[in-house]
Amino acid sequence: MTQTLIHYFLHLGFPLIIALVFFRKDYKRAYLVMLATMLVDVDHLLASPIFVPDRCSINFHPLHTYAAMALYVGLLFLKIPYRWMGAGLLWHMATDLNDCVLTYLECPECLVVALTFK
Ligand SMILES: [Zn+2]
Repeated sequence: MTQTLIHYFLHLGFPLIIALVFFRKDYKRAYLVMLATMLVDVDHLLASPIFVPDRCSINFHPLHTYAAMALYVGLLFLKIPYRWMGAGLLWHMATDLNDCVLTYLECPECLVVALTFK
């Protein structure tokens, strides 16, 4: 329950703080664009099964790979709104990674299974 609350706060609430701190002049639009980057999770539809509770998204789903993240870093160097998109996507990856860490702290054997599966 706590992990779920943390996860959704980091996905939905914390981007507002990022927008206020880094994009204060236009924070509302920055926040909305960062929220829209949640659409990156559409890549989960490519997996079979689509949802596995203990599966870590990072480097499993195509838009959650390290290569994709390198592109998201590149977006930070472009002009707005691409910069907002890069910030939102990288924050999304950080949030998903945090979820993986919390999951594997609770279930170390899930990490063993995940590493074996790859
Ligand atoms: Zn994700």
